Amino acid sequence: AVAITAQGLGKVFNGTAAVDRLDLAVEPGELLALLGPSGSGKTTLLRLVAGLEAPDAGRLLFGEEDATRLAARQRRVGFVFQHYALFKHLTVADNIAYGLRVRPRRTRPPEAEIQRRVGELLDLVQLNGLGKRRPAQLSGGQRQRVALARALAVEPRVLLLDEPFGALDAQVRRDLRRWLRDIHERTGHTTLFVTHDQEEALELADRVAILNRGRLEQIGTPDDILDRPATAFVAGFVGEAVRLAVEAAPGTIRIGAQPISIPTGDVSGPAALFIRPRDLLVCDDGPDALSARVIAVRRTGPARRADISFGPGLPAVEVELPATSSVRKGDTLHVRLTAVRLFSSSRRGDDG
Ligand code: ADP
Ligand code: MG
Repeated sequence: AVAITAQGLGKVFNGTAAVDRLDLAVEPGELLALLGPSGSGKTTLLRLVAGLEAPDAGRLLFGEEDATRLAARQRRVGFVFQHYALFKHLTVADNIAYGLRVRPRRTRPPEAEIQRRVGELLDLVQLNGLGKRRPAQLSGGQRQRVALARALAVEPRVLLLDEPFGALDAQVRRDLRRWLRDIHERTGHTTLFVTHDQEEALELADRVAILNRGRLEQIGTPDDILDRPATAFVAGFVGEAVRLAVEAAPGTIRIGAQPISIPTGDVSGPAALFIRPRDLLVCDDGPDALSARVIAVRRTGPARRADISFGPGLPAVEVELPATSSVRKGDTLHVRLTAVRLFSSSRRGDDG
């Protein structure tokens, strides 16, 4: 497997940077998810790596090789798009074989070898016996498996997947996610997987790169991203967080009218605190307990959650209720903050 390195890689469309002088190092054999909102430059970055787009700035390396000016067909990348670009008039087997058959004669494997390889790939993507079907006779999930087999047929150095499961329903997506992870473990291609679905990225990838406006906000393991967000943007983008405007001073913050002591690091003045349901623990009143008004109580599957507010004008946050809790709408509840994700608000453009 080969490393992919982007150094100051940039692409401008109509005066706006779609990819903004990006540095990124993908390790050999790694499955890296590119996660970001719509328009953050994920597809453009993938197309730059594939050679379907030429950069305006920077360099791209495959291993030690400078691939910046390499033509797309010389890069040996496998590409799978959201909308299965299978050839409708070809059978599944012929779709998979396509990339091998269009090679110039001197690099084209003999037909028997192509057949053998197609058989292997049908096996790998668990579509044994479906080689003679046409794409129209397959489900959406099966078509994406054919698309992946076709991308793998040419023995790519790098696998690029652009929201490959985006058009499928939730259950099929979950199944394909596990399946792709399994294939990745067996084949070990360096893989870039684009998604705007955080659950997908966090479950599937070795590491996740968070993109925002063409820039890399953070790259790290799913645990890094969730537990140690590097920027306010990341803290707000992953993990169902609610952003509260607070006032920080060394060792304390004020939420509405309530001061509590927490580690504030080097944050002071106007700040943003990101709270997820699991960050709050219902407790008795006491020092550093926050008091909140219960706005609503809801059952979410086996658990019950309450929407609570720390003061007038502050957005509601969710808290998981203990099984024994009997609180109702309008009650006052006390909670303790068990995780602190606090960012200074003074730097502009930080929070998307
Ligand atoms: P994502 O895949 O994260 O949704 P894209 O890479 O598709 O984001 O787009 C990033 C930005 O670049 C967007 O503002 C988009 O409108 C712009 N863009 C992408 N491709 C083109 C293009 N071919 N021409 C003009 N603008 C483009
Ligand atoms: Mg896209």
